[in-house]
Amino acid sequence: MSENLIIIGSGPAGLTASIYASRANLAPILLEGFQAGGIPGGQLMLTTDIENFPGFKNGISGQNLMTEMHEQASRFGVRFVTEDVESVKLDTRPFTIISAGGQTFQACSLVIATGAVARRLPLESEKKFFGRGISACAVCDGALPVFRNKPLAVIGGGDTAVEEALHLAKFGSKIHMIHRRDSLRASTIMQQRALGHGKIEILWNKVVEEFLGDKTLSGIKLRDTHTGETSVLDVSGAFEAIGHRPNTEFLAGQLRLTEVGYIFTHPGTAQTSVEGVFAAGDVQDFRYRQAITAAGSGCMAALDAQKWLTEKGFC
Ligand code: NAP
Repeated sequence: MSENLIIIGSGPAGLTASIYASRANLAPILLEGFQAGGIPGGQLMLTTDIENFPGFKNGISGQNLMTEMHEQASRFGVRFVTEDVESVKLDTRPFTIISAGGQTFQACSLVIATGAVARRLPLESEKKFFGRGISACAVCDGALPVFRNKPLAVIGGGDTAVEEALHLAKFGSKIHMIHRRDSLRASTIMQQRALGHGKIEILWNKVVEEFLGDKTLSGIKLRDTHTGETSVLDVSGAFEAIGHRPNTEFLAGQLRLTEVGYIFTHPGTAQTSVEGVFAAGDVQDFRYRQAITAAGSGCMAALDAQKWLTEKGFC
C-alpha cells in the first residue's frame, strides 16, 4: 500500500513537516533514523542549551526541545518508524524507500530532511571535551556565559570559520583562528572582515595536536605545519568550523545536488529536482543551518507536499 507522504529525518525539519502534514490529514510516516545521521533527533540532540529558539525565554536543552517536538508530532498521530534509510528509488512512482532493516515503503510524495553533520577533528581529546568547551556551532553556543570575555579559538579557514569568528568576537575577549594553511579559503569579503577585525588573530599553518584541560577545555596544543614546532594556546572555548557533510549518501545520485553537495531546491520552495520529492532543513541549507530555519523549511516542505498531492490526486 502506498502512503501519501513519507518523511525521512527526525530533526526539527522532519518533525515540523510531520506536524503540518498530519494536521492536514496526510497521515505521514516519519522514518526517524537510527544511526545514519548520528542520532535520532538530529544535531540538536548533541547541543546543550538552546537560547535562540523563540518561545523558551529561559532556554531549553536540545534533547528537551526535540522531545517536545516528537511528542507534539505523536499527538497528531504521526507514525514513527525507527529505521535508517538505505536507498530510495525515485525514477518510478510511487517512490520506493528501503530501510537498513530490510523494510520496503512506498509513497506518492517524500520529504527528505536528513540533515548534515558537522565534520569534527578525529582526536580522542576532541571527543572528551566536545560539549565541555568544544562546539561545532558558534551561533548555537557562542553566547553561553562560559565563553563570555574569554579567549576562544575557531578551527578552519572557510566562510563558516570567519562567520563564527565574527560572531564570537561579540562575546569573547580574543578570537584565535587556527588555520592549517597560509591563506584563507573564505570569500574575499569575509577574509577582509576577519583580517581587519581588532579582536581576531589568525594563526597560520597550525594544526590541532590535542585539546587540553581537566574537566573542561583550557587550552589547545598546536603544531606548526612548516617548522613542526609545538605550542600551547590558552582558550576556554574551541569552535570547529571545518565543514559539514550533508546526509545524502542513500540518494545515490537520484536527485540534483548543489555544487557543494546539498540537495538542490527551487528557490523559495522545498521542491527538489524530482516532482513530488521535497527537501527541508540542513540537507538543503548550507547557509543558515539553524533549528528555527530548519523547522521553517519543514513547514514549507509539508505545505508544498500537500499542495502537490492535492493537485496530482492522493494515493
Ligand atoms: P569549507 O569551505 O569546506 O571550509 C572548511 C575549512 O576547514 C577549510 O578552510 C579547510 O582547510 C578546513 N579544514 C577542513 N578539514 C580540516 C581538518 N581536518 N583540519 C583542519 N582544517 C580543516 O566549509 P565551510 O566554511 O563550512 O563552507 C561550506 C560552503 O558554504 C562554502 O561553499 C562556503 O562558501 C559556504 N558558506 C557561505 C557562507 C556565506 O555566504 N555567508 C557562510 C558559510 C558557508 P583548507 O582551506 O586547507 O581546505
